[in-house]
Amino acid sequence: MRERRKVESTVLFYIMVVSLFLFGTFLGNKTVETIAEMVPMERLHRIVIDPGHGGEDGGAISCTGKNESNFNLQIALRMNDLLHLLGYDTVMIRTTDSSVYTTGQTISQKKVSDLKQRVRIVDRTPSALLLSIHQNTFPEGQYSGAQVFYAKTDGSEELAKLLQDSLVSTLNPGSNRKAKQGSGIYLLDKINAPGVLVECGFLSNHQEEAKLQTPEYQKKLCCVISTSLARFLASS
Ligand SMILES: [Zn+2]
Repeated sequence: MRERRKVESTVLFYIMVVSLFLFGTFLGNKTVETIAEMVPMERLHRIVIDPGHGGEDGGAISCTGKNESNFNLQIALRMNDLLHLLGYDTVMIRTTDSSVYTTGQTISQKKVSDLKQRVRIVDRTPSALLLSIHQNTFPEGQYSGAQVFYAKTDGSEELAKLLQDSLVSTLNPGSNRKAKQGSGIYLLDKINAPGVLVECGFLSNHQEEAKLQTPEYQKKLCCVISTSLARFLASS
């Protein structure tokens, strides 16, 4: 019961902090540090945030000709800010529009090196939990909604289901998308840590593509994702 009350007050606290973030309330660094000290922190995990693609690899192209890599980076940077505000340790795989390859001459060699390097960053981070941010596309424009994929590692499926359910109930009501195992997704196949990949929406859908560019929608996405992460970490 005491444990439950502790979890409930933690969740309430998160909701309060997330609300402040969502409504754009400015908090000075000192205030943020003070809040972070007060949060009953779950420091067992370090969240590795992976903004998919970058640099020469722009990822998918949106219906208005924009690179997926930039959508991923904007959302990931907001995710990083919010998770810091909540007192979590994070590692960003990239913070600029760049790839992380270390070897290779051709585009495909660089792409292989880039993916291997992302796996290396996750695996060399102690107690890592991977959150990879991507966007979806489809030849037909009517499809929309977020979709979460998970690694085979312990805890990944549980986190993905929690995330998928929260995204559906808050941002995509009526969607019947389910979390799926990410077989064939290199990063999810290779990591040894728990990990999920969130396709935040479809860049091939005009309405969703426009929404995914707005700071308001990006903040909502980050709030939903971070609240689910906090719930997952508090219960695991
Ligand atoms: Zn992608």
